[in-house]
Amino acid sequence: MAKPAPYDVTADGPADGETAASVEDRVDQALAGLGLEEQVKLLTGASFWRTWPSSQAGLRAMVLSDGPAGVRGERADEREPSACLPCPSALAATWDEALLRRVGGLLAAQARAKGVDVVLGPTVNLHRSPLGGRHFECLSEDPLLTARVGGALVRGIQAGGVAATVKHYVANESETDRFTVDVRVDERALREVYLAPFEALVRDAGAWAVMAAYNSVDGATMTESPLLRGPLKDEWGFDGLVMSDWIATRSTVPAALAGLDLVMPGPLGPWGPALVAAVRDGRVPVGLVEDKARRLLRLAARVGALADPASPASTPIGQTRPGVDPYVAAGSDRLAAHGGPRPAMPGQAAGADEVGDTGADPAGPFARQLLRQAAAAGMVLLRNEGGLLPLAGIAMPGAARRIAVLGPNAALPRGQGGGSATVFPPHLVGPVEGLRAALGDGTEVVTTTGVRAQPWPAPLSTTNARDPESGEPGLRVRFFDAAGKVLRSERRLSGRLMFMDDPVLARSARVEVSALLTARVSGHHPLGFAGMGRFSLRARIGASADGDDRGTADLGTMDLGTTDLGTTGDGPGGSPPGGPRGGADAAAGPEAVLYDDTLDPPDGDFIAAFLRPPVWWSGLDVAAGQDVLVTLRHDPIAGLPIASFALLGDDPARPEAEELAAAVELAASADASVVVVGTSDRVESEGVDRVGLDLPAEQDELVRRVAAVNPRTVVVVNAGAPVLMPWRSEVPAVLLSWFPGQEFGAALADVLLGHAEPGGRLPTTWPARAEDCPAWSVTPVDGALDYAEGIHVGYRGWARRAPSPTATPTAPAGGPAYPFGHGLGYTTWAYESVAAAARVRAGEPVRLAVTVRNTGDRPGRAVVQAYLSRERSAVVRPVSWLAGFATVDAAPGEAVTASVEIAARAFQHWRPAADGAAVGGWVSEPGTFTLQIGSSSAVCSLRHDLVVAAAP
Ligand code: BGC
Repeated sequence: MAKPAPYDVTADGPADGETAASVEDRVDQALAGLGLEEQVKLLTGASFWRTWPSSQAGLRAMVLSDGPAGVRGERADEREPSACLPCPSALAATWDEALLRRVGGLLAAQARAKGVDVVLGPTVNLHRSPLGGRHFECLSEDPLLTARVGGALVRGIQAGGVAATVKHYVANESETDRFTVDVRVDERALREVYLAPFEALVRDAGAWAVMAAYNSVDGATMTESPLLRGPLKDEWGFDGLVMSDWIATRSTVPAALAGLDLVMPGPLGPWGPALVAAVRDGRVPVGLVEDKARRLLRLAARVGALADPASPASTPIGQTRPGVDPYVAAGSDRLAAHGGPRPAMPGQAAGADEVGDTGADPAGPFARQLLRQAAAAGMVLLRNEGGLLPLAGIAMPGAARRIAVLGPNAALPRGQGGGSATVFPPHLVGPVEGLRAALGDGTEVVTTTGVRAQPWPAPLSTTNARDPESGEPGLRVRFFDAAGKVLRSERRLSGRLMFMDDPVLARSARVEVSALLTARVSGHHPLGFAGMGRFSLRARIGASADGDDRGTADLGTMDLGTTDLGTTGDGPGGSPPGGPRGGADAAAGPEAVLYDDTLDPPDGDFIAAFLRPPVWWSGLDVAAGQDVLVTLRHDPIAGLPIASFALLGDDPARPEAEELAAAVELAASADASVVVVGTSDRVESEGVDRVGLDLPAEQDELVRRVAAVNPRTVVVVNAGAPVLMPWRSEVPAVLLSWFPGQEFGAALADVLLGHAEPGGRLPTTWPARAEDCPAWSVTPVDGALDYAEGIHVGYRGWARRAPSPTATPTAPAGGPAYPFGHGLGYTTWAYESVAAAARVRAGEPVRLAVTVRNTGDRPGRAVVQAYLSRERSAVVRPVSWLAGFATVDAAPGEAVTASVEIAARAFQHWRPAADGAAVGGWVSEPGTFTLQIGSSSAVCSLRHDLVVAAAP
């Protein structure tokens, strides 16, 4: 019988009992066996996701994988699904470290099941401007909240024997020109705001890896930045590994001297023989290379990739972490390169199944339950007039019987943002599905889109496409060499295809994706693709599953479509490059060539275009019941093992006005309406910043029209970052779901029906108007992006704003729509008292005892927040800053006391070297500080003055 895995995802501490000294002994021994060349070889990746093995060192290859809202594994393939977590801004909204530690444990379980040693996350850059494309992937605008929730994730991941990688070090808050932008940030802001989460995660949470960012800070690109030595390694004592972001390393000597340890990906890159030569001719000290190799070996020892002489079977050299190896399943020739099928780990049979259901199976009850709980715990109830929510009565006998679930994100729910954080989930429970499951047959759930937020069709899937070869649901993908020989042929379950480091792709001259569609209704069917490079898109009406032509194609009229070149937004662009030849060919023969040309990304960020490829679409008139064989051909770049494209297709859409009217009609007929609005993984994605905060398309209009006909309207905002909600005072209830991961609909039903509390509190201020944001532009000027607001980031900046002369009912006095820390929950609280010392010695922490009472009629959870301020100060300070928080649960009427620790650092500020000191340092200014305690940065009813006494 299989023994249980040696990890416990609920464990509260390191899984490994090995002492630090014995790890160092093993690392020393391994290092002693390596010459200069061998050491240097280890310092560049072996492939896109792997490091090199070394038999001399007793080292197996380590596998690295994104992160941070799931673990994708080496292949981005829907047939090897990953648990899809709520996006990090949703996780931070829980303010719940115990829960996030368990979520970290789930990431570790997923990593182990996929043979992954190092998770590339968490992302702890801050929410500086809401335009930041990876805002959803970061945690908060506040450094303390980021540090605390990020720390919980790191601890949870690493307790599972998997390394966390804290990224992107540092000042990578936006995406525009990310490879070249030089961020100008003053020393105090750098230390007190942007470095602070890294410091906490390295020093307190003990992270084993850090990723150096693409951007520069104050003139030095981060892979060559002096900030890698000090503060990271020298001052904070970081003994882990610094890896580059993917292709971020630009040099041999400057990067090696600066403190970068591992160049990713490999096997090419600026180190290798060039670094050996630099050591030989004295430009790089040999001890520095040794230190880098030592750090890599230490990481290996920590994740179980370095042989333990005390347990010889521990590390199968030449293998990766035991788990599910996609290449074993795929029969790839990669196996030879990495040493063949892997044996079982001691105490654990190989494969995910044997580890029991503690998170290895993304569709198993453990993962599903935890993700559902986490999604609900992060949902923020922004507004709830008249106690509309929870819709508790709706499921009661004789109560409401019809709910209308409307909106683009009800039709196409969004579980995650875009970019490298993307994972392929086993399923995505949508709002309609979630509510139907929760309400059962007694309540009718009716639905329509109302507004199409994205004009092009969605990727084909098993719900609307069949594999032309087998007739089964899905699509057929075939890889051909130059002679036309089929190298691989496989059935896929999604039209969205991503190949990362695929050797068969590298040998292919053509990849062909085909799908058989049967028109459910007569009309104009949108068809298209996303991708960059050479493509042809063809359609043949009347084809059948066995390939027979069922007669003459009737192609009808062809709409030549529009093009989105993915430049700045996702609005329709101009004419397709080269123009589709569909019209002419359609008329000439049975196969219509809809597109045959090259689709180029608008600018040079290859990774961004890979992650968010440009889209082309058109349409085809098909009668109900007719079959259409659609084929997308792509000629990949010779030798490149990477490609990303999608085959898109949908049912015909109703004309816009008709669709909107249908939604309004449904709303009017229902006892309650739930309008699900939001963004998407294209609007919020890596490599590109947003252009504005408006909801795409006519979503504002949809909300207003629905609210006008149904007074019981709840708006659910399905976005990872702030959007403007100009209608928010016109609707009774607004619930922010974020990108809530794969259990979206189940968690949403729990919250809407009152089975779970909307536990979230805003980790970031939500603006009423874009122009009021204290930091807005993310566009560099002459290559530089000035963090001119200094330490006044987020709510600290909002608090300094002068009241706006153009206040309106929806944007009163220039304040935000909802302040940092806000979130209503389903009960109410009275903040009754605070007890704490009146004096504290500089450099010491303080503990507050805050008594709060649940004054509502439901049990609930309060997030008790403590903010510091200082009236008379020798230095400029934020108006107030978050200094500590704690969560407490209480029954109706119950009073509970929260213990809130305020760390000594909360009272300190950074004195830059320039201010009269030889080196910068943390300083405690003696005197009176004021603590304000409450339920958000704007609502603090308790106050406590405290004197910080000078250190003796
Ligand atoms: C991203 C990283 C990611 C890496 C590997 C980069 O483009 O910035 O966050 O870990 O790719 O996918």
